[in-house]
Amino acid sequence: MEYVRGRKDGQPSAEGAGTFTGRAMLDPVLAEPGMRVNSVFFEPGARTYWHSHAGGQVLLASAGRGVVETRDGDRTVLEAGDVAWAPPGEVHWHGAAPGSFLAHTAISIGETAWAEEVAEEHYKSVTGEA
Ligand code: MN
Repeated sequence: MEYVRGRKDGQPSAEGAGTFTGRAMLDPVLAEPGMRVNSVFFEPGARTYWHSHAGGQVLLASAGRGVVETRDGDRTVLEAGDVAWAPPGEVHWHGAAPGSFLAHTAISIGETAWAEEVAEEHYKSVTGEA
């Protein structure tokens, strides 16, 4: 059995770069072959680029308020206790609402395939409803 107290081996938080809009901090929790667990903190307005996970991804929202949306327009608000499952290969993004941070735990299975940024106009149109 392995136990992690908050973050793996005391590694520092890393700022997500290149595949995030706005500021997102990632704490590594676990990294096993084919699976990664990260605690992610999105500042208000911060979000991932569009992407998919080869083996799928579980998102466990722990605090704040955010949004997850798939390429076909299916979307929902994420708040503490909410869980989202992105099936293998489903293109999506996730991030904070404009007026709130979002903290979630991300359990990512397999490689992540990154696509383009979520356009500001699209984000605003989506979160205006959130
Ligand atoms: Mn994802």
